[in-house]
Amino acid sequence: MSANFSLAGRTALVTGANTGLGQAIAIALAEAGASIVAVGRSPMDETAAAITGLGRSCLSLKADLGDIAVLEPLVAEASAKAGAIDILVNNAGIIRRADALEFTEKDWDDVMDVNLKSVFFLSQAVAKRMVADERKGRIINIASLLSFQGGIRIPSYTASKSGLAGLTRLLACEWAAKGINVNAIAPGYFVTNNTAALRADPARSEAILARIPAGHWGDPKEIGGAAVFLASDAASYVHGTVLTVDGGWLAR
Ligand code: NAP
Repeated sequence: MSANFSLAGRTALVTGANTGLGQAIAIALAEAGASIVAVGRSPMDETAAAITGLGRSCLSLKADLGDIAVLEPLVAEASAKAGAIDILVNNAGIIRRADALEFTEKDWDDVMDVNLKSVFFLSQAVAKRMVADERKGRIINIASLLSFQGGIRIPSYTASKSGLAGLTRLLACEWAAKGINVNAIAPGYFVTNNTAALRADPARSEAILARIPAGHWGDPKEIGGAAVFLASDAASYVHGTVLTVDGGWLAR
């Protein structure tokens, strides 16, 4: 059975791999045997050191994913330098907090561009090559509990993550027969930069913790197993699902 979970010989492109969940996912995929292309706007040194320390290769590519024009050249460079992409993890994401009555167009557009528009066009660029090469592939989108719930003070984030769940299902329906499994992971509340503002607010932080059946905020190390599963042969018949990794939050 362990061979079913092996990613040996596969190449995975992970966006936003310098920190947080993206870093943890890149390291977990490398632990399972994959070579990594780490993409983002900040230096990837820490992630690359961890991955090469495991004896895997890590190609770091700089890109601002808010700019759609960079996506095709990014995939071309990644494929030329690291080989064909077998696994794409659309992890990079941003959040902006303000009351809905005050929320600005810029905070709407910035979040939608990174969290939704770039995910679609990066997936399209990678999938075009997978289909042209008649190669099986995996796409894993990092969704959110806000793919299912409303939340407060994060209108563009909730819209983007709810949209991402729908996009995951649409792409699964279009691409399953072409050999590409498209799925998503919906993380609960994890300790990363994304949740720093919540954790700095004692009332919100306590209220959130009180609702998590597992009794603790997620450690980024607790997300990697779900990504390895969805990327592996063990998930060959899994298409269009949004897998929650949330300490039981949604079950409550
Ligand atoms: P994070 O530490 O803020 O990481 C976000 C990553 O996205 C960083 O690597 C960031 O790069 C990158 N990024 C943002 N905008 C980018 C851009 N324009 N171009 C390239 N890279 C960009 O937060 P995280 O929690 O690990 O977030 C990872 C994903 O998980 C996000 O999609 C987030 O919405 C989702 N998520 C997180 C939680 C949670 O509890 N933490 C819960 C549900 C969903 P920089 O470091 O350079 O900013």
